[in-house]
Amino acid sequence: MSLKDYEYEMSHCIRCSWCKFVPFQLIKSKRYSYSCPSVAYRNFHMWSAGGRVILGLALVQGRLKEYTDTMKQAVFECTMCGACQSSCRVNNYNLNNIEVQQELRQHFVEQGQLVPEHMAAIDGLKKEDNVFGEPKADRGKWAEGLDFLKDANTEKADILFHAGCRISYDEELWPIARSAVTIMNKAGLDVAIAGQNEACCGGRVYEMGYLGEIEKYAEDVAGRVKACGATKIVTLCGDGYAAFKNFYPQLGLDLPCEVLHVTEVMDQLISDGKIKLTKKVPMKVTYHDPCHLGRRGEPGVKWEGEYKRLHAHMWAAVPEKPIKLGVNGCFDPPRNVLKAIPGLELVEMERKREYTWCCGAGGGAWEAFDDFASWTAAERIEEVKSTGAEALVTACGWCERSFKDSVEENREKIKVYDVIELVDQAMG
Ligand code: SF4
Ligand code: SF4
Repeated sequence: MSLKDYEYEMSHCIRCSWCKFVPFQLIKSKRYSYSCPSVAYRNFHMWSAGGRVILGLALVQGRLKEYTDTMKQAVFECTMCGACQSSCRVNNYNLNNIEVQQELRQHFVEQGQLVPEHMAAIDGLKKEDNVFGEPKADRGKWAEGLDFLKDANTEKADILFHAGCRISYDEELWPIARSAVTIMNKAGLDVAIAGQNEACCGGRVYEMGYLGEIEKYAEDVAGRVKACGATKIVTLCGDGYAAFKNFYPQLGLDLPCEVLHVTEVMDQLISDGKIKLTKKVPMKVTYHDPCHLGRRGEPGVKWEGEYKRLHAHMWAAVPEKPIKLGVNGCFDPPRNVLKAIPGLELVEMERKREYTWCCGAGGGAWEAFDDFASWTAAERIEEVKSTGAEALVTACGWCERSFKDSVEENREKIKVYDVIELVDQAMG
């Protein structure tokens, strides 16, 4: 596809601005009515999905001929969280605005309109197969001493566990990965890791506009799955989940196995009675839906069709494009797990599930637009505080890092946990 291929969809933007907000009938307060961090931060239409769709249309129709730094900033100062897509769909079934924004980013990269701060991630992948450019040899360090784990490079196993770049290189988060595999092992699951041969999923740089990288890493992951004979790949982070479950299939690069998030595994183990949560964890918590685990984790399907002009401005996608509302991502398993923990009280924020507010870390915003990313995280912490919860619980290393940094920077009292950490506490 090219940006030109999206002309039909882009011409269907009705400039209604629903993409900026939680759908109006679901808004509970003005304070938490925005769902798009980008436009809430800049308060300028071009920083919304609708604004970018109009920009893309003007480019393909030749009404805009030059690229400016402001245009580039407007295109990339966004977390690719997908809230715009979920809200737009309520009003407009003909427009995949998140696909348009993805294509617009790829178009900018193809035109040499690069974001310099993204280059570190691209170089990191080229040299070390991770977005931080950290030594490849250190990737499996989080699992040191866990001798029960199989080596996916030489042994067969039912499950290939994918820790992801963030957790693999963030020592403070290593206990989450260690607990996850230990719990799975105790429950009798057959788990392997690839250690230093695990590589990035490619999802993060794909959303920065680099298509070649995700194609390369999809092949790489598929090769590892086949080599160890895994029937499932289990990931800890939202980025990996969205890449494996949504982006790869949408690009026709499906993995040869089932894709699960670790909370889906825990939910199943609890309902099968294979792990027992017996110890009380007396705490009032609220759950933050990671965008890439929830609405952007909705399974992707490759669409192979064409747009046909029926009459004047009437077009049709033939065959019809799959309609993605963002409702089929991973929303219930983490909540089910939290509800199974004795003593834990779960309260919800106003913006949740497919209308969740982003943590600020996605889409290359964390790498390139630090102020915007930090503001987005701090906004969520305010919403957490409004529920009266003492802790925010999430299920993605990127979200956890964002919120931990925000809490520290702003001297907040809110505690930040991963679902797995609380499961571990409840198992005693
Ligand atoms: S992108 Fe969708 S929600 Fe946003 S202005 Fe256009 S039609 Fe409306
Ligand atoms: S992806 Fe998120 S930040 Fe970007 S325009 Fe959509 S709602 Fe706003």
